[in-house]
This record gives sequence, structure tokens and C-alpha cells, in this order.
Amino acid sequence: MAHLASVGSHSVNGVAALHSELLRTEVLRDFAEMWPERFNNRTNGVTPRRFLAQCNPRLARLLTEALGDEGWITDLSRLKALEPLAEDARFRARFRRIKRENKAMLADWIRTHNGLEVNLDSLFDVQVKRFHEYKRQHLNALHVLHLYNRIKRDPQIDLVPRTFLFAGKSAPGYYLAKKIIHLINAIGELVNHDHDVAGRLKVVFLENYSVTLAEQIVPAAELSEQISTAGKEASGTGNMKFGLNGALTIGTLDGANVEIRDLVGPENFFLFGLTAPEVAERRARGYNPVDCIQASPELREVIDRLARNEVCPQQPDVFRPLLDNLVGSDPYFVLADFAAYLRAQEEVSRLYRDQEEWTRRAILNVARLGHFSSDRTIQEYAREIWDLEPCPIALPHYVQE
Ligand SMILES: *Cc1c(COP(=O)(O)O)cnc(C)c1O
Repeated sequence: MAHLASVGSHSVNGVAALHSELLRTEVLRDFAEMWPERFNNRTNGVTPRRFLAQCNPRLARLLTEALGDEGWITDLSRLKALEPLAEDARFRARFRRIKRENKAMLADWIRTHNGLEVNLDSLFDVQVKRFHEYKRQHLNALHVLHLYNRIKRDPQIDLVPRTFLFAGKSAPGYYLAKKIIHLINAIGELVNHDHDVAGRLKVVFLENYSVTLAEQIVPAAELSEQISTAGKEASGTGNMKFGLNGALTIGTLDGANVEIRDLVGPENFFLFGLTAPEVAERRARGYNPVDCIQASPELREVIDRLARNEVCPQQPDVFRPLLDNLVGSDPYFVLADFAAYLRAQEEVSRLYRDQEEWTRRAILNVARLGHFSSDRTIQEYAREIWDLEPCPIALPHYVQE
């Protein structure tokens, strides 16, 4: 399909810088050699109307007050002017209070739909997106199991409480993705009511993910999980929605994460994992996931708990296909990135204990992500791909005011 599209198009866009480069040099190299002028990059964006003004009215009001007017809604680059406010303790307190109110709203939804109580003081750690092995929701699930292991080993351990939120669908015939959804729900059953856990970990799976549900989740998120195998996520747009609503990102150098990190500054982004060239190199060298298990006692414990059927004892071997996939071939380098992911997550927990510094970095993320407005993307398409001139229109009277 991509080959036919390359022949039939006058412009080919990889939707984020990294993927546009991969198209040119690898995926569609022959076509790029034949028609170099077709290949370009216009990085994706999200609409600030839906994904800020509409879904997060509290933050929208604060932005309008801080920036002096509502102009940011149609010129998102104006968020830049928030930067100095990251150093203002009163502004940080207001920003933090809004996040907490948004968390309380989502907690109400969770109570109604999942019958679970979540702790508003816990870190809302969110991964919502379609289910696919390359997006690695199972890497996140292994981290939850690791924290569970630490609590079971030492129930008195001082851990930052976390609420893990998952949502997403898979293609109906995608067997392993369905297994990952099952695994997350089974881990929820295991940890949510465990006496030793004592409410410090909650795993919530919100069903029937949609844009409307995303509008409820995004404003409440504090940590945005963008943990795809490097080279696999063309852009991602969830990453942009979360950052613009004041979540910090934990992520790989993949898709638009690369540009997000460049813009917010590496000190305001939790980076981990193999890079796209490193993934390619490991694959070429002959990757054996068993080596990773041997090198990491934490990973071994997590894999052992799964292998001993302790996650879903009433259905022995229900996760065997997933386990065999990870231990046997691990095509998406989940085990290869596990140790680095744990270290990055420890850094997340450490920072979360310092709420002032966390909030400071969250505000800087909002201030520096105005680039990811779909208005900017569409302007670029209009001018540089479609060769269109602006055509001002008179709005009908009922739209004005
Ligand atoms: C934004 C969005 C996506 C894309 O999310 P990614 O994390 O970029 O994969 C998918 N589904 C819904 C409902 C969304 O709102």
C-alpha cells in the first residue's frame, strides 16, 4: 500500500522528523532515490480547541488569565509566554490545584464505571492508545508487577503511590494484543485488593476508549507513557495532548517524542531505552531476550511470577503465549529496554516527591509545546504542500461575538 501511495502521490510525509527520515533512508529508500522532491516532513499536531480549551476548562481559564486574552486558542505559540510563571510559587500552586481537581473528576468517573476508589495523592500514570505490541503496554505492565514484587518482599517499603490508567482497543483478530489487555486486567485483580499493597498501587482499565473518553483522561494525567520500540511510532499525537495538559513524559526516542524532548529540554523529559539505530543493530547482531533476564534479577522475578501462574491462577497458562513471545523472540525489545525503563521510573518517583519541582517542569512542558498545534501543521500543508493562498471569509452573524 505504501509503495502504491508513493507512486500516486506528489508529496510523501512521515508525520514526524524521525519517521520522515526513516522513510527516506530505509522504508521507501528506492522511491526517495527516484523522486527525492516528494519526500518531506510536516510534524503532526493536535487541535487546541478540543484538547485544551474544551477538555480542560480550568487550565484554559488559567492560561487566558495569565496570557491576558484567549488568543492562545488560535495561536498556540503564545503559550511560550508562560515560561517565567514556572518560577512563580503562587502560579504553581494554582496549576497544581487544577491538576488535582481534574484528577478528582476522573476519580468520580472511575468510581462509577469501575467501582474502584483511587487515591488523589497518587501519581496518575497514564497509557491510553490503541493496543499494539510496538506500543509496549506490556512493558508498563511488567513495571507494575515489579512494584508489586517490591511490596510483597517488603510490605513496609516507602513507595510513591501510583494509579496506573490504561485504555485502548486492539484490532479484533490481534491475539497477542488481546492477551496484553487481559494481562493488565488480571494485574488489576491481583494488586487492587491486596492487603500488603494497601492502596499504594491501583490498576484501572477504562473500557471503550474513544476521543470523548480521552478528553476526560488527558487533563488528569501526570505521567504520559510514550514507550514504543524506537523506530516504530510514526509520530504519536497522544504524547502532544498530554504534554499540553501538564503531564510529564516518560518515553523513548521515537516519533514526535524526539521533537517534544528537544522543545521542552532534556531535563524536563524522562528518556530511556534503545534508539532506532541501536534497535536495528541489536536485531542484526542476533538478539536473545534470555540474556536480559539473566542480567536483571528484577526482570527475572517479574517473569517468574508470570511463569508460575501467579497473576491469574484460576486460568493456568493463560499468558503462556505472551510469555513465550517475550522470552522466545521479543520482537519489540520489551526485555531489552526493561532495566532502563525501571531506572527512568525510579527517577519519576524521586521527582514526584518534590511537588514544586514536578509542577515547575509540568508548566515548562505546557509553555514549550505550542508548536504541536494542528493549526501549525495545517498551515504548513496549505503553504508548502497544497500551494494554497489564505482565503478570508465573512462569518455568519450567529458565529460572531
Ligand atoms: C489521540 C488519540 C489516539 C492516538 O494516540 P497515540 O498515543 O498517539 O497512539 C488514539 N485514539 C484516541 C481516541 C485518541 O484521542
